[in-house]
Amino acid sequence: MKKLWKCSVCGYTMEGAEAPENCPKCGAPREQFTELSEEAAKKVYDSYVTNDLHMELAVLAEKMIHLSRKGIEINLDPACLAIFQSAEAAGYVIKEKSKAEIAGHISKGKW
Ligand SMILES: [Zn+2]
Repeated sequence: MKKLWKCSVCGYTMEGAEAPENCPKCGAPREQFTELSEEAAKKVYDSYVTNDLHMELAVLAEKMIHLSRKGIEINLDPACLAIFQSAEAAGYVIKEKSKAEIAGHISKGKW
């Protein structure tokens, strides 16, 4: 496994043989970087894909909400309206679940 470095100022992580001269995000000097332990690095790598999936799911759920609101506004007939209303509610739940999951990952170093 490659070395993984984390900026203690802003949390930016990056791979490399050594820490960068300055943090690409906040500009902090090399001394502010610490090498993550193998266990901490594994959490970061394991969460790369799942965090991206949750972010994409949250975006799709937001689109679902947006589409549903258009259908609700048109209000073609009661059956049609009911589908859009349930889709809007489901989209909200999915979006918030994914956001909460990402927040949980971050709080456990899975970022
Ligand atoms: Zn930084």
